[in-house]
Amino acid sequence: MIFTTRFAPSPTGPLHLGHAYSALLAYDMAKARNGQFLLRIEDIDQSRTRPEWEDQIYDDLAWLGLTWPIPVWRQSDHIDDYRAAIDRLSNMGLTYPCRCNRHDIALAASAPQEGVPTYGPDGRIYPGTCQHRKMAARNPTDSIRLNLRKAIDHLAADTFEFQEPAEGPAEGNSVTKSYSADDLRTSVGDILLARRDMGTSYHLSVVLDDAAQNITDVVRGQDLFEVTKIHVVLQRLLGLPTPIYHHHRLIRDANGKRLAKRDDARAIAKFRQDGASPDDIRAMVGL
Ligand code: GLU
Repeated sequence: MIFTTRFAPSPTGPLHLGHAYSALLAYDMAKARNGQFLLRIEDIDQSRTRPEWEDQIYDDLAWLGLTWPIPVWRQSDHIDDYRAAIDRLSNMGLTYPCRCNRHDIALAASAPQEGVPTYGPDGRIYPGTCQHRKMAARNPTDSIRLNLRKAIDHLAADTFEFQEPAEGPAEGNSVTKSYSADDLRTSVGDILLARRDMGTSYHLSVVLDDAAQNITDVVRGQDLFEVTKIHVVLQRLLGLPTPIYHHHRLIRDANGKRLAKRDDARAIAKFRQDGASPDDIRAMVGL
């Protein structure tokens, strides 16, 4: 199988040094192994996506010296596939409609039971308010959740694993990350499969797309390490392969804070304007 990786930005703001590091690292790894580097535009959140940011992504990456096959995979072109996967999970009896908003969830979770975790890899653990509801009673404004405990029971596996080699092209031996079924039952909660406004969710679409694009190796930031166990569960449920994951260090600002989309001062476009070269960017991120 050809080593195939991807860079998957969301066009919701300028690419900054952290994105440059992620894209260049993935690209270099693909080149070093005679593999493929793909670009995917993660534009399911149409309320935050802007065409000008997408154009800027192509422009910045080309300037950095990257090339990728076209047409580029855009998630907004695949909403029907995400819907079909949700139907499959629903037919397995593993989903339910949810009408809770953030405020409802915070309120219901404000009196936690002792020993029960409140936060999981995906943020606040959903307290289960709508768990009893049936898909047939779904309103168009409901979101859809995966009943995680039912899903784990359905899979009837004791452990869930993925391979995480050391960072970078000069990796050592693969390291297996392993989670027990019990750990997943208590630490994750009922994740969203479809947000009310999007018809899908980050977790569902990323898992489906990595499989559809035959991604063998996912290169992405360490901030996504913890949610990978969610991705492994979804892969098992949908009969998809689990790629190898390379979660890389995060690029931080002078105060040690992780860069965010709003860090315009660290935008690649800003460095370009100020006369930096692609090699300068490589040096800044330690490549
Ligand atoms: N679209 C995600 C982001 O911009 C990346 C998702 C991934 O690499 O799995 O943070």
